[in-house]
Amino acid sequence: MQDLPITQQPIAIASPLPRKSRQARVVWRNNVVTVGGDAPVRVQSMTNTDTVDAVETAIQVRQLAQAGSEMVRITVNTPEAAAAVPYIREQLDRMGEYVPLVGDFHYNGHRLLTEYPACAEALSKYRINPGNVGKGEKKDKQFGQMIEAAARYDKAVRIGVNWGSLDQELMARLMDENSCRAQPWDTRQVMFEALISSAVDSARLAESMGLNGDNIILSCKVSGVQDLISVYRALAQRCDYALHLGLTEAGMGTKGTVASAAALSVLLQEGIGDTIRVSLTPQPGEARTQEVVVASEILQSLGLRIFVPSVTACPGCGRTTSTTFQELAKQIDDYLRGQMPLWRMKYPGVEAMKVAVMGCIVNGPGESKHANIGISLPGTGEAPAAPVYIDGEKALTLRGERIAEEFQALVENYVARTYGATAAAPA
Ligand code: SF4
Repeated sequence: MQDLPITQQPIAIASPLPRKSRQARVVWRNNVVTVGGDAPVRVQSMTNTDTVDAVETAIQVRQLAQAGSEMVRITVNTPEAAAAVPYIREQLDRMGEYVPLVGDFHYNGHRLLTEYPACAEALSKYRINPGNVGKGEKKDKQFGQMIEAAARYDKAVRIGVNWGSLDQELMARLMDENSCRAQPWDTRQVMFEALISSAVDSARLAESMGLNGDNIILSCKVSGVQDLISVYRALAQRCDYALHLGLTEAGMGTKGTVASAAALSVLLQEGIGDTIRVSLTPQPGEARTQEVVVASEILQSLGLRIFVPSVTACPGCGRTTSTTFQELAKQIDDYLRGQMPLWRMKYPGVEAMKVAVMGCIVNGPGESKHANIGISLPGTGEAPAAPVYIDGEKALTLRGERIAEEFQALVENYVARTYGATAAAPA
């Protein structure tokens, strides 16, 4: 067959590959969060409060849940923390917040889950790190105690391996085996093998101890982008458990955000990953919820989920010499995000809305027409008028000092009209 000229060939439309994992269920009351299989990729986060402070922890869990975290992990590191878990759960239930809680256990999880049954019951999922369950003969016994608690209370388990706490006995054994190879592997490859073996072997052991394999989620976290991609590609080939993705110790601000987005996007596009967490170190004064915002944006940017209305804003240039345009774009973005906990319930479908805030006439009208509602602000040298476009048509022009407030009011009216209970059903 003769090749068609390049302009005659349809361009392949990119989309994430389907995932192929088993499906786990993380449950609290009637809130069943499915993970894996055909379920949406889930957003997770973790508190940084002292778990012993039940009130403070419950408040932060709620903030994270309201920001969009579908499961929230809390540290359970001491008897006092284990004793506080049922109270945290109770506070949340009283607030009507049924987000599942995940207990993060290291070193003493076997004792805490056995000695604090109310804690074991109040949690919906246990995170077990095989590198931190014990050494030598104690290892399998203590791991078994945790698995027994999960099976008894019908809880999901994440077997979460981390290269910072990798099982050193396993690593030493694999290094020995490697030294016997005719062509020894690179040390990094041995470490990847140890991470994956630790996770998969622990999962198989848990199944042999009676845990339902569908309720097992695996993770193998490292802090390098290319390393994470290498490890998860191999892990996804070696098992069909649901996978939790995250770049561990991603860092602060822009570095942590970009590194997480780079690593997670590659894997999610390949159909690898069923839940994600962005492990950002909060900058001084920054809300803990920022990690949820970034995780949600990664999924929304890839077209995997829709959480909040999107604001299309141009970067600005020499045509936008005042800060009016930047301030309006930020104000609208903050406003939409702030409204979502209420709007999600009141205006179903509003999360798919597109708002454009543009800096001048060059791309302003065009981009605004593509949005549900958009405004094209006047650039330098243009008449001080801001045309507003609604559903692709120019609807009105705003002028004067109160453009920001007036545009926000127009957005609010649009939402109520389009997504409210009295909105006309789509034809
Ligand atoms: S839309 Fe106008 S202001 Fe915005 S980047 Fe383009 S040319 Fe600059």
